[in-house]
Amino acid sequence: MLRTALLIVAGGSGTRLGGDVPKQYQPLAGIPILRRSIQAFAGIPGIEWIQIVVGPEHEAQFREAVTGLKLLTPVAGGDTRRHSVFHGLHALSVHKPEAVLIHDAARPLASHALIARVIAALENGADAAIPLLPVADTLKTNAGGDWKTVSREGLLRAQTPQGFRFEAIFAAHQRFAQEEVTDDMAMAELAGLKIEPVAGEEENVKITTRDDMAFAERLLAGAREFRTGMGFDAHRFVPGDHVWLCGVKIAHDKTLEGHSDADAGLHALTDAILGAIGAGDIGQHFPPSDPKWRGANSAQFLEHAMALLRLKGGTLTNADVTLICERPKIGPHRDAMRARVAEITATDPSRISIKATTTEGMGFTGRGEGLAAQAIVTIRMDGTR
Ligand code: MG
Repeated sequence: MLRTALLIVAGGSGTRLGGDVPKQYQPLAGIPILRRSIQAFAGIPGIEWIQIVVGPEHEAQFREAVTGLKLLTPVAGGDTRRHSVFHGLHALSVHKPEAVLIHDAARPLASHALIARVIAALENGADAAIPLLPVADTLKTNAGGDWKTVSREGLLRAQTPQGFRFEAIFAAHQRFAQEEVTDDMAMAELAGLKIEPVAGEEENVKITTRDDMAFAERLLAGAREFRTGMGFDAHRFVPGDHVWLCGVKIAHDKTLEGHSDADAGLHALTDAILGAIGAGDIGQHFPPSDPKWRGANSAQFLEHAMALLRLKGGTLTNADVTLICERPKIGPHRDAMRARVAEITATDPSRISIKATTTEGMGFTGRGEGLAAQAIVTIRMDGTR
């Protein structure tokens, strides 16, 4: 397997989509385009380094867009695309990658299959592997004043990611530094590298206009995914004067024993969210052995799980919590609990349900030894293509 770097050029300041934020930082189905363009490569074997080239004037937008992603320190773009790519290659050269995939920040929908074709061509000995598509529309020009039809014979459209043997493309960029080119295949052409075409994809759209954005949104809507997660928790009653349940403090003649505030409702809900995104359980994120969490307000556990969910592009569709105890009576506090959970999760209260039941005197909850909680959540993941 080739030790591969991913280089994404995000230095552009194009605002043709409207607004004053460059297009790569604008949200596509809720997630910045650049973040999607990076995450398109998540889980591809062999990619060891991710280098982004950014416009220094958009540092704040960049940082927000890539929160939580494992990237090399970004490098500043140059005056032209070619300069920007060269800055990125130069920064990567210290790591000595064997191959580099150079990708546009505005192509968020490159599929794993496409990326795999590019890498396979390099592994099979090509110096350069370029996704190409035929031209289907009839081409016209009126350059010179008169309309003419241009033969599309032999014409192809180049996409990214374009893959290269690192040393070969780095040397080409140094040797042809005076040439202005619009992609890196042009450098490979100048240097006479061995170019292997691979099949491009119509879905691998370069987002330039509002129409492109709408097209990408329709593709992502088709890839929308729903997930569920469940959680369970129980805590023991000990002498005391209040309990915390679903983020609400309730006067009671006992308290719940636990390392944190022992809010079994929020713990079950936190575990349900972690479960839906395959992120382990609450004990892994907040070990009871860590004194930092002694007496902790469990709202922060739920906030953490929600932050992880959002990083993965997820939205909480609904949460349904059942509290199981004889006492305290939950009914009088239900609305406050619902409002508090909605607040912590930044979700509309209509999507939050708090229910309560007894076990008719049976079992540990029936005998009043402790309290249990169950939660189930539905998560919408937008466009995990
Ligand atoms: Mg617990």
